[in-house]
Amino acid sequence: MFRPLTSYLQPLEAPASNLQPLQASYLLISSYPNYATNFLINYNTKGGAMKVLKIDHLGIAVNSIDQGKNFWMDVLGLEFEGSETVDEQKVTTAFFPVGESEVELLESTAPDGPIARYLEKKGEGIQHVAFRVENIDSALQELKEKGIRLIDEKPRKGAGGAKIAFLHPKSTNGVLVELCERD
Ligand code: ZN
Repeated sequence: MFRPLTSYLQPLEAPASNLQPLQASYLLISSYPNYATNFLINYNTKGGAMKVLKIDHLGIAVNSIDQGKNFWMDVLGLEFEGSETVDEQKVTTAFFPVGESEVELLESTAPDGPIARYLEKKGEGIQHVAFRVENIDSALQELKEKGIRLIDEKPRKGAGGAKIAFLHPKSTNGVLVELCERD
């Protein structure tokens, strides 16, 4: 909700209330840099500057993409968009677009990879939920400032050239949340 800048100047001495908005914002920023930064982040937005655009995809751990994709393709009739191996993650991914989102099947390429460990512990199932954000760097910065535990402090490269980062399930009601930014 819009509030005039001068209404944020309560902590300042009396003369401040006579300032014009432009002078007031200059004074605010120079006197209270952190306060002003938060103000600018929260200004006119709900809950922060971070913009979550949509659910980008659901990451589903499978023992085998070849076998797993039967259900998604043959039964649900989804289109197979292609697969890609991300060496850094020791995973092969296969994407199936559904409306504005996608199903991402994840098959491990190594016994010590994150998907292999997940399958060992929990078996096949939804391993993560990915939200598309407008700007992943500023989103991570904002979440960090809000005390959210990050698995990745900096974005890394995901499938399809996306910039991705994971948030710790301890901070997200037990859900492994992936943020992703795509061009
Ligand atoms: Zn993903």
